[in-house]
Amino acid sequence: MDQKNNQPPKKPDGKRPKFSIWFALMITVALVLIISTIYNAVSNSQYTQTTFSEFMAEAEKDNLAEVEIRYDRVVYMTKAEAAKHPSQQKACFTGLPNGDILGLARELDVLGTSVNVEIVEDNSTIMMILYYIIMFGAIFGIMMLLTKKMGGGMMGNIGTSKAKVYMEKKTGVTFQDVAGQDEAKESLQEIIDFLHNPQKYTEIGAKLPKGALLVGSPGTGKTLLAKAVAGEANVPFFSISGSDFVEMFVGVGASRVRDLFQQAAKVAPCIIFIDEIDAVGRSRDSRYGGNSEHEQTLNQLLGEIDGFDSSKGIVCLAATNRPEILDKALLRAGRFDRQIIVDRPNLQGRLDTLKVHTKKIKLAEDVDLRKIAQATAGAVGADLANLVNEAALRAVRKDRKAVNQEDLLVSFETVIAGTEKKNTVLSDTEKRIVAYHEVGHALVAALEKHSQPVSKITIVPHTSGALGYTMQMPEEEKYLKTSGELLTELRTLVGGRAAEELVFSVQTTGASNDIQRATALARNMVTLYGMSDVLGLMAPATVSNQYLSDQSYLDCSQETSALVDKEVQNILNTCYNQAKGLLEANRNLLDEISLHLLAKETITGDEMMAFINPPKAEEATEE
Ligand code: ADP
Ligand code: ZN
Repeated sequence: MDQKNNQPPKKPDGKRPKFSIWFALMITVALVLIISTIYNAVSNSQYTQTTFSEFMAEAEKDNLAEVEIRYDRVVYMTKAEAAKHPSQQKACFTGLPNGDILGLARELDVLGTSVNVEIVEDNSTIMMILYYIIMFGAIFGIMMLLTKKMGGGMMGNIGTSKAKVYMEKKTGVTFQDVAGQDEAKESLQEIIDFLHNPQKYTEIGAKLPKGALLVGSPGTGKTLLAKAVAGEANVPFFSISGSDFVEMFVGVGASRVRDLFQQAAKVAPCIIFIDEIDAVGRSRDSRYGGNSEHEQTLNQLLGEIDGFDSSKGIVCLAATNRPEILDKALLRAGRFDRQIIVDRPNLQGRLDTLKVHTKKIKLAEDVDLRKIAQATAGAVGADLANLVNEAALRAVRKDRKAVNQEDLLVSFETVIAGTEKKNTVLSDTEKRIVAYHEVGHALVAALEKHSQPVSKITIVPHTSGALGYTMQMPEEEKYLKTSGELLTELRTLVGGRAAEELVFSVQTTGASNDIQRATALARNMVTLYGMSDVLGLMAPATVSNQYLSDQSYLDCSQETSALVDKEVQNILNTCYNQAKGLLEANRNLLDEISLHLLAKETITGDEMMAFINPPKAEEATEE
C-alpha cells in the first residue's frame, strides 16, 4: 500500500537574507570615490605639477605660449617648453584662488601677455557632472542587478512595503467560491457585517475583535476565505506574507509593518491579511530561536494592532498552520483572540470543492464527482483544484472537447499518487513480487471485518517511486477510529511484506514505506491513544502540532521510552504474524488474484471481490 501522502509541501519559512538598497548605495558611493581618485591621479600625471605663483611668475615675464583654463585646473605651456618640442608635456596647477576664472583671464589680459587663453570651463563642468551621474547610475544599476540575482529582490525594500503588499480593490471572490468551511464562514460573517456598517456596532458600544486567526493546513483555503471576506464586504484587500517582514537588517521589518498599517488606514474600511504569520509572530522565548530584529518586528505588529482604530473598519486576518508556536501576546484579547479553524474538507466538502472548480469546465456525461470525492480522503482544496486542472489539461492533450471520468481518475493519480511511469521496466521476478505484495495488502484488507474496501490494485510503477499500490476507499468519512480498526490498518500495512515472505521467502526494500507507516501508527497507538496494555492510559508523548497530522515528541523517562519501543515492536510483530497467518490460510486466493493482477496490471476492487465471493453459477454464465 504505497499510497502517497497528499500533503502539499510546507511553505518555506521565509527567512531569506536580503540586500538593502542602502548597502548598494554605500558600495556605489565608495566605488565612485575610488574611481574619481584614480582618474585624478592619472590625469595629473600627464602634467608637470606647478603652483599658482609659479604660473603668475611666468605670466608676468610673458613667457606663456598657451593657457587653458579648465573647471578644476589651469593647464599651460611656457614658450621655452613649446619651442623645445611641440608635443612637450604641459604644466598644470590646481586650485585657482577664489575659483575666479574670469578674474584670471582678465589679469592675464592686463598683463598684456600675448598668450592665447582658452576657457573650457562651462562645458567640461557639465560634462564632468554628467560623467559622474552616468557613472553613478551605471554602477548603481549593476549593484541592483547583482543583489537581485543573489536572491535579494530589493526594489522598494527601504522600509516601505509597497512592493510586497498586494492590494486588491476588489478581490472578486465571494463565499460562493469557497466550498464547504461552513463554520469558518459563519464566524467570518460577523466581520463582514461589521465592515458593511461599522456604526451599527460602535453605536451600541460593542468592540469587535480586531483580528481573527485562520488556522489550518496549507491549501485548505485560508487565503481564499480572507479574500472572500473582502469580496463579500466589498472592501479592499491588503495581503502580505509574514516572511516578508523577516529581514536581515534590524528595523526594516518593523518599518514595513508600520507602513502596511499606514497604507491600510488610508483606504479603510479594508482587510489586512497576513499569511504565514508564524514567521513573524513566533514566540519570543528562545525555544524557537529569536533575534532582536524579529522581536522589533513583532513588537511593532503588536503595537499597530493595539493602535489602529477598529471603528474605522480595519480588520486584520492572519493565517497559520502552527498556532502553537505563536507568541502568547498575539493571541491576547483584543488582538487575534479569535481562532477560526479551517479544516481539511470532509466528503461533502470535497464534493463541493470539486463542483466549484468544475463549474467552468466542460464535463462529459460519465463524470461522477462523488466517486472522485470518495477517493480523495485527506486531500485539501488546493489538491482538488490542482486535480481538476490536470484533468482538463489531459482532456486537451487527448484532443477531447470535455473532461471525462478517466481524466479525473488519472489526474487523481498524478496529483495524489504521482504520475504513472510506464517506462520503469521491472523484471518478471520483480513484477511477481510486487504483485504478490500488493495483493497481500488487498487480501488482508478484504478478509478483515473493520477494513475499508479496496478500490484498485495496480502494479504500474509511479514516478513517486512506488512500484505499485493498493487504493482503499472509505465508504463514509470517519472521525473516530476504534483500536480494532487501527489494528486492521496495521495488518493491512504489513500484509505486503507478509505475502513476500510467505510466497518467496524473501524480504525486499519495497515494503519500506509500509513499515514506516505501520511503525508510526503503532507508536501513536501506544504514546497518544492509550491503546496498549502495558502503558494503559498514560500518554508519554505530546502532540506538537495537531493541524499537521499527528506530529508528536516523547517527553518521558528513559525507562518509559524503552517500554514504548518494546510495546510498539510487540504490536507490529503480532499484527505481522496475524497477517501472515491470514494469507497462509487463504493461499489459493492469494495465488489466483496475484496471477490475475500480473496479467492485467491494474484491477478494480470489484474484480478482486469476485474471487473472494464468487458469483453463483447461474449468474456467472451471464458474463
Ligand atoms: P491556504 O491559504 O490555506 O494555504 P489557499 O487559500 O491559498 O490555501 O488555497 C489555494 C487554492 O486552493 C485556492 O486558490 C483554491 O483554488 C483552492 N481551494 C482551497 N480551498 C478551497 C475551498 N474550500 N473551496 C474552493 N477552492 C479551494
Ligand atoms: Zn506495500
